[in-house]
Amino acid sequence: MGNSKAPEQVVVVGAGMVGFSTAWYLQERGVQVTVVDKEGVAAGSSWGNAGWLTPALTLPLSEPAVLRYGLKAMLDPSSPLYIPLSANPQLLRFLIGFARHCTPGKWREAMEVFTEVNRIGMDAYDELAEGGNLLTTSHQTTTTAAGTAGGSAASGTTGTTTRAGTTTTLTAAATADGAVREPTKVADPFLAGFVSHKHRDALVHEFDAVRRAGGTVDYNLVDGDELRALEPTLGSGVRAGVQIRDQRFINPPKFMESLAESVKARGAEIVSGFDVVDIRDDGTGVRVIAADSRLLQADNVVIASGAWMGKLARRFGVKRVVQAGRGYSFTVVPEVMPTHPIYFPAQRVACTPLGDRFRVAGMMEFRDADAPLDPRRIKAIIDAATPMFKGIDWQDRKEEWVGSRPCTTDGLPLIGATKSSRVHVAGGHGMWGVALGPLTGKMLAASITGDTTPTVMRRFNPLR
Ligand SMILES: Cc1cc2nc3c(=O)[nH]c(=O)nc-3n(C[C@H](O)[C@H](O)[C@H](O)COP(=O)(O)OP(=O)(O)OC[C@H]3O[C@@H](n4cnc5c(N)ncnc54)[C@H](O)[C@@H]3O)c2cc1C
Repeated sequence: MGNSKAPEQVVVVGAGMVGFSTAWYLQERGVQVTVVDKEGVAAGSSWGNAGWLTPALTLPLSEPAVLRYGLKAMLDPSSPLYIPLSANPQLLRFLIGFARHCTPGKWREAMEVFTEVNRIGMDAYDELAEGGNLLTTSHQTTTTAAGTAGGSAASGTTGTTTRAGTTTTLTAAATADGAVREPTKVADPFLAGFVSHKHRDALVHEFDAVRRAGGTVDYNLVDGDELRALEPTLGSGVRAGVQIRDQRFINPPKFMESLAESVKARGAEIVSGFDVVDIRDDGTGVRVIAADSRLLQADNVVIASGAWMGKLARRFGVKRVVQAGRGYSFTVVPEVMPTHPIYFPAQRVACTPLGDRFRVAGMMEFRDADAPLDPRRIKAIIDAATPMFKGIDWQDRKEEWVGSRPCTTDGLPLIGATKSSRVHVAGGHGMWGVALGPLTGKMLAASITGDTTPTVMRRFNPLR
C-alpha cells in the first residue's frame, strides 16, 4: 500500500486502455477514481487496433530501416507509412527527433527497455483476469453548488464535487466484480506470412536482435503450404511463413467494454463528454476543468489522453512531442474465418480474428489526430492485403476506422509524475499501448501511492 501521502481521489483523463488500466490499479490501492473522456469509453486508439499482446513483436518503432523507408515513402499516399508534406511545426519537431533516434545504437538501447517490459507485461493482464484484491474505499462525497456552471461528474447535476466531508474506510476484500471478464486469447501459434524468403529474412534478423537484447522469441520457419494448412484463407501469394509461440491477442472493443465495466463495478465514476481543457494544481489538490466549465476536484490527476496528451501535459513540464501516428482498420467476413492473428510485415498489415469478423489493420500516417478518415489509406491496406488472401469480399467491409497511436520520438512511453507531484501522465506507447497498458497502470498506481516501482520505470520519466 501507499504511504501517508497517497491520494484518496484521482481523476483520470482518457477512457482508453492506459487510462482504465491506471484506474483499475489505483482501485487496487484503495483510491477512488473518476475517469473522464471527451467522448466516451475507448473513443481513441484503444478501439480499432489489432489487439496483439505479442512480446516477440513489441519493439521500438525507431528502426534505422523505418527511416530509410520513410524518406522514400514520404510522399506516396499508397505507402504503409505516410507523411503528408505540411508546415506543421509539431510534426517537423517530431520527425527531426524521431530521425535522431533511428540509429542502431539508440534502437538497441530502446530494445533493452522493451525487453524488460515485455518480460513482465503479461502478468498485469493475468491480474486483471484474476480480479486482484480490491481494497474497497467508501467516500462520502458532498456535492455543493459552488457557483460554477455544469455539474458534478457523477450525476450531471449542477455543482462542484469537493473533497469536503469525505471519509474513507478501507476494507481489504476480494471482490467478485473485480475481474475483467473478456479473456486474452493464446495465439496458437501467431502467424507471419511473406511473398518471399528475402522478405522473411528481415523478420528473422529482427528476432536475432531481440534475442541479442536479452528477449526471447520461440519461432519456427514454415512454407506457404504449411501456413495454408493452418489458415486455408491464405492465398497462393504467401510463399513463406513464421509460426511464433507464446503470444496472445484480444478482441479490443470487447476487452475495453469489459475493462470499463470492471472499473465501474469497483466503484469508479465514468464520465463521457467531459472535454478537459485545463488542469490546475492549487497547492493542495487539482482542479480539472471541462470545455463546458464543469469542474472536478481531486487530490491527483492522471493525463492518459493518448495522442492528445501534449496540450494538457506541456504546462507541467512534459516537453516530449506526442505525435499522432494514425492507423486504419476495417472488418470483413472471409469464407473460411481465420482463427490465428496473421501479420504481413513487408506490407505492414496486421490481421486479427474477432470471432464473427476478421479485422484488417495497417498504415502509419503522421498527421493531425482529429483529421478525418482518408479513404485512400483504406484502399492502400486492401491493395496490400488482397494478394495474401482468398475468399474475401473486400467490398463488403464494415467498421472502417482511423485511430491515433500516441508516438514519442524515442519510442518510449511517458509514465510518471510531472513537475507537479499531483499531476501524472501515462501514454505515448505508440504501436504498443494495448500490450503495455495494464503494466503501465500497475507501475503508475504504485508510483502515485508512494510504493516501489520496477527500476525500468525510470526510463519512462515524462520530464526526460
Ligand atoms: C491500426 C492500429 C493497430 C494497433 N495495434 C496494436 C496492437 O496490436 N497492440 C498494441 O499493443 N497496440 C496497438 N496499437 C496501439 C494502441 O492502440 C495504442 O497505443 C493505445 O490504444 C493507446 O491507448 P491510450 O489509452 O494511451 O490512448 P487512447 O486509446 O487513444 O485513449 C485516449 C482517450 O483520451 C481521450 N481524450 C483525449 N483528449 C481528451 C481531453 N482533452 N479530455 C478528455 N478526454 C480526452 C480520447 O477521447 C480517448 O478516448 C494499434 C494502433 C492502431 C492505430
